[in-house]
Amino acid sequence: MFDPVRVEALRRAPVAPGSHVIDGERRQASGGGAMDVISPIDGSILTTIPRGTREDAEIAIGAARRAFDDGRWSELAPAERKKILLKWAELIDANALELAVLGVRDNGTEIGMALKAEPGSAAATIRFYAEAVDKIGGEIAPTGPGNLGLVHREPAGVVGAIVPWNFPLMIGAWKLGPALAAGCTVVLKPAETASLTLIRIAELALEAGLPAGVLNVVTGEGAVVGEAIARSMDVDVLVFTGSAATGRRLLEASAQSNLKRVYLELGGKSPNIVFADTPNLDEAVKVSANGIFRNSGQVCVAGSRLLVERCLHDAFVEKLAEHAQDLRVGDPLDPATAAGAVNSQRQLEQNLAFVEEARARGRRIVTGGDRILQETGGYYMAPTIVTGVGPDDRLAREEVFGPVLAVLPFDTEDEAVAIANGTDYGLAAAVWTADLSRAHRMVRRIRAGVVHVNTYGGADLTVPLGGVKQSGNGHDKSLHAFEKYLNLKTAWIKL
Ligand code: ADP
Repeated sequence: MFDPVRVEALRRAPVAPGSHVIDGERRQASGGGAMDVISPIDGSILTTIPRGTREDAEIAIGAARRAFDDGRWSELAPAERKKILLKWAELIDANALELAVLGVRDNGTEIGMALKAEPGSAAATIRFYAEAVDKIGGEIAPTGPGNLGLVHREPAGVVGAIVPWNFPLMIGAWKLGPALAAGCTVVLKPAETASLTLIRIAELALEAGLPAGVLNVVTGEGAVVGEAIARSMDVDVLVFTGSAATGRRLLEASAQSNLKRVYLELGGKSPNIVFADTPNLDEAVKVSANGIFRNSGQVCVAGSRLLVERCLHDAFVEKLAEHAQDLRVGDPLDPATAAGAVNSQRQLEQNLAFVEEARARGRRIVTGGDRILQETGGYYMAPTIVTGVGPDDRLAREEVFGPVLAVLPFDTEDEAVAIANGTDYGLAAAVWTADLSRAHRMVRRIRAGVVHVNTYGGADLTVPLGGVKQSGNGHDKSLHAFEKYLNLKTAWIKL
């Protein structure tokens, strides 16, 4: 699928200004404003997207409301919805390389990962939910004689989806797949720095036959467009992936408007715990490095805290540092690149500030720590490993969302658990050990939505992803994701 000549042509192709997709049409912002899209590859202006207004969001929500209420989608037979969604997945696959390159130019992810995790995974996700939708039904409750209790599953209504910039298509599809398959209509707000591919797949959805108004995309600032969606009286369910600060605002907005259900996926500070009896040390080093450095650490489940049993600490860190230094950072459109560009100058500055603070506290920067390839004009950062980090350091407690690994030693299993559980987050974790009993004990004791054993990441679509504690609530992926987009309704019938 990777065609270097085609990629080079796509890299240089001009990108037409983006538009909203509302009620089946491309539209510009009602106020006429546009925002520049900066490519993190070289800091150049790639194109523009509409700077959406509150009015744009309201028009899109109105379209989604009408499309839901008149049943043009929710009342279609599930098998009919399935056909359209499968066609959509097919079109995404057919345009995979174009979508991947466009996405990389917009958000900086290395192409190897973007191809797999973006169009590839989006199409697979939409297909997964499309295939499931005519296989889930209601229930007949085990009532006593004389009554019939029917439990219907109904589409929840208009869904507002606010998504981030690290994997716009993959995370977008985690929301859109089950929401649309369930019969809901959607207003989607992409992140300011990764809107282009989501606009494009909304156009492909229309091409696949999705009725007008069922999927609307409004671009612009979170504080304007996102806020308008969150405060709308016409949005029934709000789904979000992003920062904890924004998550809190969304809960407030729901409380102050119509009490819409809010599902949040808020990232983490995920512990990757390596015991000295780890069966394959080289594998643990390689996978741990990928778990924090791929996509420049801009991964919600990134293993950003490495907890190593003290007797292994120095040897493991040494191997990891060697591996990190060998990772090729740079042009994200070069297939040999292991980590591309940081998404934005703002994110790069945030990453560097964490490192500066660690340095000022006397922590040891074993490798990396700096901006690199500045001459390209792009935003690149060397994979960074910091040792001597204390459990109370900001670097051990707060999400960096960059290629910065905090390393902490531990002596006992109990201490590993205490450190692992010692943050506000609870999204992902990993345990490396040859001891099966210990692996199972750790899975039980670690407070996280997913605990990997002798691997990191890669949990596929069949299993749920969601956080505990301040990493959020609800689940993306797997059949459980339908629960967010379906309401239960009881029919109680006297016989
Ligand atoms: P980050 O800081 O990593 O960009 P954010 O939580 O700010 O994470 O962004 C995730 C998504 O939330 C983006 O689409 C962004 O536009 C949106 N967003 C940001 N602020 C708000 C807000 N006040 N209300 C609604 N959405 C917002």
